Amino acid sequence: MTELPDRRLLLVHAHPDDESINNGATMARYAAEGAQVTLVTCTLGEEGEVIPPELAHLAPDREGGLGPYRTGELSAAMKELGVADHRFLGGPGRFRDSGMMGVEQNHRPGAFWAADVDEAADHLVEVIREVRPQVLVTYDPDGGYGHPDHIQAHRVAMRAAELAAEPAHRPDLGGAWRIAKTYWNRVPRPVVEEAFARLREALPGLPFDRAAAVDDVPGVVDPETVTTEIDGTAYAAAKAAAMRAHATQITVDGPWFVLSNELAQPLFTTEYYELAGAPRPAVRERDLFEGTGTAEGGDL
Ligand SMILES: [Zn+2]
Repeated sequence: MTELPDRRLLLVHAHPDDESINNGATMARYAAEGAQVTLVTCTLGEEGEVIPPELAHLAPDREGGLGPYRTGELSAAMKELGVADHRFLGGPGRFRDSGMMGVEQNHRPGAFWAADVDEAADHLVEVIREVRPQVLVTYDPDGGYGHPDHIQAHRVAMRAAELAAEPAHRPDLGGAWRIAKTYWNRVPRPVVEEAFARLREALPGLPFDRAAAVDDVPGVVDPETVTTEIDGTAYAAAKAAAMRAHATQITVDGPWFVLSNELAQPLFTTEYYELAGAPRPAVRERDLFEGTGTAEGGDL
C-alpha cells in the first residue's frame, strides 16, 4: 500500500456541488494542512437544474449531458480546494441522480434512491479499507433537507462504515478498518438566522431579488446539537471559488449565493458538524480529528 498521510478524512456526498457548499472550507483547510482528503460523490447530478441559459441544453429534458459536464465542474472545484482524491461511488455513472422526492426518476433503473443499500455500501467499503480514514463526514438521516439522494448517501455511508469494520465482511475488499468518528453536516439555527438578517439588509445591493428562508438551509438544528465547528475563514476564497466552479448549479456573489431557485443564501465559511453515535464532547470541538490519536487510527 502507498504511504498515506497521518490524518485521513472521507466525505460522502450525493451530487457534485454538495461537497463545496457544505464542506468546502473544511476540505480546503485539511488538504492545506497535509491531511488526506477523499471525496466520494454518489451520483453525477444528472437531474440538476441548469442556471446559465447558454448551458440549458444540457438539461435531462433537452439534449442531456449534464452528468459528464458536472464531472468537469467537480474536478475544477477540487482543484480550487486542493483535493486530489475524488471518486464516484462504484465509478462515474454507476448510480444516477434520483431527482427530487416523489418524481418518477426516483425509481428509474440505476437511480441511487432505488439502489440496494448493502450493495451500494460495498463500493464504499472498498474505498474505506483503502484510504483508512479516521473521520467520515456525511449527512444526517434526513439528508439535511429530504432529497432522496442525500438520504441514501447517509444510509450508504453509515452502512459502509459498519461493514468496513467487520473483518468477516468481504475480505476481498481489503482489511477491516474502523472509522473513529462520524460527523453529520449541521448548522446552528442562531448562526443561520443572524446570517439571513445580514442578507436581508444587503439584498437591495445584490444581483438577487429574494432571500431564501432559514429552513431552506439543510441541516439547521438547535445549537446544542452541534458538537464541532471548523473555522474555515482562511479558506473562504477557496470555498467560494469551488462553488463558482459548479456554475451550472450555483451563482456566487461575495458571501452570498443562489441555487437554480434564485433564492439568496449565506455562504458559510465556518462549517458545523454533529458527532454521531458517540458521547457529546464537553466543549465544542474545533478539529474533526480531535481525540483520534491521528497516526494510530483504528487498525484492526
Ligand atoms: Zn445534492
